[in-house]
Amino acid sequence: MTMNDCIFCKIIKGEIPSVKLYEDEDMVIIRDVAPQAPVHLLLLPKEHFANIVEMSDAQAATLGKCLKKLSSLVDELGLSGGFRLVSNKGKDACQSVEHLHIHILGGAQLADKMA
Ligand code: AMP
Repeated sequence: MTMNDCIFCKIIKGEIPSVKLYEDEDMVIIRDVAPQAPVHLLLLPKEHFANIVEMSDAQAATLGKCLKKLSSLVDELGLSGGFRLVSNKGKDACQSVEHLHIHILGGAQLADKMA
């Protein structure tokens, strides 16, 4: 998978429509097209890398910055009651898009087990 084939790179560039709730120089936050919770968002770092295992130190630092920013957006994203962050990596986790993304799930009481 290259950046040219990547659906999330296309969303970031605006070539595929999405509901963008937040954007800055490092990331976008969009609504997941197939929500699994009342609020189901995706945090997409703008830089393409496949997953957390392939992440460089610089990309990890940027991701940390994105998560810190997320913590300041909680109320406006409808997550004031709490939220769950998930990042799937690889086949066993059913990762379907090979551009690192953080699922943000909330908007209601979630199941107490994740698998
Ligand atoms: P994962 O299975 O962890 O790779 O998650 C990929 C997520 O991307 C899934 O929850 C999909 O519903 C979501 N998704 C795929 N295509 C789009 C799209 N065009 N817009 C928004 N979300 C999408």
